[in-house]
Amino acid sequence: MPETALDLTLDAPALTAALVDFPSVSGTEKPLADAIEEALRELPHLTVDRHGNNVVARTRLGRSERVVLAGHIDTVPIAGNVPSRLDDDGILWGCGTSDMKSGVAVQLRIAATVPEPNRDLTFVFYDNEEVAAHLNGLGHVAEAHPDWLVGDFAVLLEPSDAQVEGGCQGTLRVHLRTKGERAHSARSWMGSNAIHTAGPILARLASYEPRRPVIDGLEYREGLNAVGIEGGVATNVIPDECTVVVNYRYAPDRSMAEAEEHVREVFADCGVSEIVVDDHTGGALPGLSHPAAAAFMEAVGGTAQPKFGWTDVSRFSALGVPAVNYGPGDALFAHKRDEHVAVDKITHCEDRLREWLTS
Ligand SMILES: [Zn+2]
Repeated sequence: MPETALDLTLDAPALTAALVDFPSVSGTEKPLADAIEEALRELPHLTVDRHGNNVVARTRLGRSERVVLAGHIDTVPIAGNVPSRLDDDGILWGCGTSDMKSGVAVQLRIAATVPEPNRDLTFVFYDNEEVAAHLNGLGHVAEAHPDWLVGDFAVLLEPSDAQVEGGCQGTLRVHLRTKGERAHSARSWMGSNAIHTAGPILARLASYEPRRPVIDGLEYREGLNAVGIEGGVATNVIPDECTVVVNYRYAPDRSMAEAEEHVREVFADCGVSEIVVDDHTGGALPGLSHPAAAAFMEAVGGTAQPKFGWTDVSRFSALGVPAVNYGPGDALFAHKRDEHVAVDKITHCEDRLREWLTS
């Protein structure tokens, strides 16, 4: 028996299985956070800090660069897929195998086996990623202890099928309101129809040509789309109000202010009486031109892919730390009953990261 609940001398696939067999559905991460903290405190080359159920461990070697390896320790609810099961084809099945206990296992292995990395390392293990954004442990650490997350470059070991996914797009949701004047539909000339007034908005959306900017060699694809429309008072009333809900997914070369400005410009002459920002989260630059990132790309090989959806790399970006996703799981199987990971991908990611951090 290991002296702590987690045995960091296990290889990464076996450690992944041990982590899957240590359930940590969002909101119940404390025992696993305790075990991770305890195991890391056994390692003399790391300084360990804790905030809630978030554990941060750092080397202090005075290297010229610092990189952050981060991962969430929670999973979606178990769906009859715990304990884990390893089959003859080298596939490990179970809740969190892909998203993202295999990534956490790689982090822990690097923490345990690379005591003198060529770059200072910060390991972040955080809770509540799979639930509402305000609960996200990485966000809580960023707010309470931003100094713990300082670095030149960050890798989130989220499932990316062992490919590098750089940056992420921003997402802005706005309500475009049009105004009219109510009247009985039998005497419609007495009023003005707010739904008809929304016509130019829809025409503008239909003819809009989204950008495909290339940033650090990655091609992003933007989108500007109506995702909802609301209007109508009664079937015999000319409506005096209509709202078109528009979602703008934008590449990370645009700031949040620029994205809002762009949307206002696009609809400037479309008869909109009011534009209300409903929800807005900025994107994240891939930062692949940074020396630490370039060395990382060289060590892991392959071609980086852009990330279209919003991810926690954006939280690092907000702190001025460029970040990418790179992990052994396959996102297509995340959150599924048949969630699984290929054992050789886990080993591959571990080897590539070790090479980057020791060569
Ligand atoms: Zn995840």
